[in-house]
Amino acid sequence: MGKNFVSRGLALKSIAAIPFAALGISAALSPAQAATDNKKQFKYQDKPGPGGAKCASCRFFRKPNACTIVHGKISPNGWCIAYAK
Ligand code: SF4
Repeated sequence: MGKNFVSRGLALKSIAAIPFAALGISAALSPAQAATDNKKQFKYQDKPGPGGAKCASCRFFRKPNACTIVHGKISPNGWCIAYAK
């Protein structure tokens, strides 16, 4: 049982190294990854911001659920720090 435990530990160790390599590649190649980063950068949230400000009343909002600034799908009821009337 002890021997089995050790070899299992080694196998896990080598598997754990793979996601790091895969992440490095996808960060460089995947637009989806960039979209995620962009939402974080603008602190996008899927609920209204200060004073009830929301995407639907923002100049950057593009119907039905897109935005000129923030990438990917957004909600008309969302908000981010780039909000402008
Ligand atoms: S800039 Fe921000 S607040 Fe304005 S539509 Fe885009 S995500 Fe919404």
